[in-house]
Amino acid sequence: MFSHPRMHDSLWFASASPAPKTAPLDGDRTVDVAIIGAGFTGCSAALHLAEKGVKTIVLEAQDIGFGGSGRNAGLVNAGLWLDPDDVVKTIGPDYGERLMAELGNGPSLVSDMIAKHGIQCDDVRKGVIKAGHSPSGQAHLEEHARQWQRRGANIEVIDRKRIVDMTGTERYVGGIISTAAITSNR
Ligand SMILES: Cc1cc2nc3c(=O)[nH]c(=O)nc-3n(C[C@H](O)[C@H](O)[C@H](O)COP(=O)(O)OP(=O)(O)OC[C@H]3O[C@@H](n4cnc5c(N)ncnc54)[C@H](O)[C@@H]3O)c2cc1C
Repeated sequence: MFSHPRMHDSLWFASASPAPKTAPLDGDRTVDVAIIGAGFTGCSAALHLAEKGVKTIVLEAQDIGFGGSGRNAGLVNAGLWLDPDDVVKTIGPDYGERLMAELGNGPSLVSDMIAKHGIQCDDVRKGVIKAGHSPSGQAHLEEHARQWQRRGANIEVIDRKRIVDMTGTERYVGGIISTAAITSNR
């Protein structure tokens, strides 16, 4: 494996502990599952398969985390930017509510994996604020929060005073905070 120069633009790459040593594929391998790409999806799939005793190999063309996984904002959010009711309307109640439940549980799943495997990723579970930049934006956020609250999520509306105290800026009229979300202290 080699380091592509563009990876050095990534905060995570620059500040993370060194990745485990890997070697190029040097011949044929017989496995139950071959996974192409060592991002979050490939690594998580490989880990879960290996835990079940499935013989698995991960093949990565560049470096572990070379794609979106090594270059994102580092937020493990409990849900999507889309409103849950819209997702349910679009894909139907069965799959929609199942998807929302899985997404709502995402940070807990990640948190459990971090603890179980002692993953050193500087995780912080203090939540994520979505800030309302206008009264209509805030109204939309409050509706978003209500839809998640109906599904049992830990998400609360914060008023102008509280968001000023929390962020130090007077730019926002309010916001919502999802306390389940994980961020990094980098
Ligand atoms: C700017 C930005 C900010 C984001 N912020 C967030 C955020 O805050 N929170 C969040 O949840 N999501 C965020 N995302 C989305 C998130 O990063 C991606 O959804 C996630 O990383 C996708 O992971 P992945 O493993 O599916 O793909 P990737 O991480 O892209 O991994 C794919 C891997 O496959 C490799 N590959 C491709 N083709 C081949 C091949 N033929 N052979 C071998 N290897 C191959 C690539 O090199 C790469 O390493 C953000 C994305 C971006 C771009």
